[in-house]
Amino acid sequence: MGMSRRDFMRITLASASMMALPHTARAASLPTNVKKEALPMAFTLPPLPYDKSALEPHISAQTLEFHHGKHHQAYVTKTNELVAGTPLEGKPLEDVIVAAWNDKNQVLFNNAAQVWNHTFFWSCMSPNGGGKPTGKLAQQIEKDFGSYEKFAEAFKQAGVTQFGSGWAWLVADASGKLSVTKTPNAELPMVTGNTAILTCDVWEHAYYLDYQNRRPDFLTTFLEKVVNWEFAAENYDNLAAQQAA
Ligand code: ZN
Repeated sequence: MGMSRRDFMRITLASASMMALPHTARAASLPTNVKKEALPMAFTLPPLPYDKSALEPHISAQTLEFHHGKHHQAYVTKTNELVAGTPLEGKPLEDVIVAAWNDKNQVLFNNAAQVWNHTFFWSCMSPNGGGKPTGKLAQQIEKDFGSYEKFAEAFKQAGVTQFGSGWAWLVADASGKLSVTKTPNAELPMVTGNTAILTCDVWEHAYYLDYQNRRPDFLTTFLEKVVNWEFAAENYDNLAAQQAA
């Protein structure tokens, strides 16, 4: 498949802009006499919120090196290629995901949704992770699952029984009620009207180097050692704030 000079220029421009600041900051820093449309905003790989060795020994630097540096980067690169020159170029990631889902554009959906899923997943883990949720989220987990232990069991079960690649989720519906779901491949809660509160990536690339085929052990370690309940609680509080607004 040949690449026209125009395509090449577009990709070069996107790559050059990816070297710059995160796209929100870049847009704000443009001189006021430059139309924003003059520079289509390419998606960029967000940095990990911690050092790549910070989750050791539970998740190795090597796993994060590949998972973030290769897999996540590839989804970003592919999404930029697929939206270049289309009406979706420069649109927010969420808009691209929903449009691709509605248009049954499977290739674009898979890549764009995986950009979102991985960005979300990195924040679902923390070097100071583990423990149990607190505050409003903790109360709602008690209410909707009966106990934290029952939630943990349901979440692990979702991850273990997701056949092939996919994700385990804690989601909230519009009323704030929590449930555990699993999705195949790149699918994510926003396309079914739910809000993601927490996720665990159960694609083999997430755990194979550290756990080989022992997905249940990976899920147990995720919940006991690295899960970031602070982030999940913020997601739940933000949902409540949006509903109140
Ligand atoms: Zn992944």
